[in-house]
Amino acid sequence: MPDTALVTGAANGIGRSITLMLASRGFDLCLVDRDSETLKALESQLVGTGINVTTLDLDVSDAVSTEEQIESAINRTAIGILINNAGTAVAADLPHTEREEWHRIFDVNVHAIYEISRLIIPHMARNGGGVIVNISSVAGMVGLQSRAAYCASKGAVISLTRAMAIDHAKDNIRVNAVCPGTILTGWIDEILSGNSDPVEARRNMEERQVLGRLGEPEEVASAVMFLIENEFATGSALVVDGGLTAR
Ligand code: NAD
Repeated sequence: MPDTALVTGAANGIGRSITLMLASRGFDLCLVDRDSETLKALESQLVGTGINVTTLDLDVSDAVSTEEQIESAINRTAIGILINNAGTAVAADLPHTEREEWHRIFDVNVHAIYEISRLIIPHMARNGGGVIVNISSVAGMVGLQSRAAYCASKGAVISLTRAMAIDHAKDNIRVNAVCPGTILTGWIDEILSGNSDPVEARRNMEERQVLGRLGEPEEVASAVMFLIENEFATGSALVVDGGLTAR
């Protein structure tokens, strides 16, 4: 298998942890994010590690740019691992979700996986195979309050993962999903700091997970590594949620 991994949403949070873990295992990297400044800083941090790093300054919800940039990347590099991690959400029930927001969430969380994977799957197949990990969420398995579009989009990610796994086993491509619980990243920090009582809001988030704490991005990254390395894993949705869905 070629040893270049493409990670979307690589600059911050869970994507950044996945990136650093892949780098520590010696994988070459193609890093995608729309936060170009942080992405460049991450690239600089990896200089001198001996791995080859390229970056794509790209908003994955822009289908035209995504097609152009991914095509160009696969012409330059053999990608053996694809981590579809970039994601977004809005806090609203269905009637309060504006149509533009609904579409934006599906563009980032679902359509970007389609746009990127439809180019990378044939590329992987030509090179003898590969591994794809899609970052879903517990929101794809249970209902969360005021997250209608997000839950729908993450449920779609799990279903798409299973369909891709079935279709592309013949190409020696394994496809899995990870379903994290609440993980302490900039995203969650932002939600908490926007709350009128951040301490109480954090306590509520912690208490809904059986282990009584938020997860660390590295705990999701290690689940991704497991799915990359375990050659019998395909079509699975690996839950790493501190017990949120166990209740
Ligand atoms: P984050 O906001 O901390 O980081 C997300 C990264 O993705 C950022 O670097 C951002 O710039 C990038 N990104 C977002 N939209 C993009 C776009 N359209 N194009 C390119 N880059 C884009 O978020 P996170 O908490 O690390 O979440 C990463 C993934 O994990 C998401 O898919 C999210 O749904 C999922 N997830 C997160 C949690 C959690 O509690 N943090 C729980 C379950 C699932």
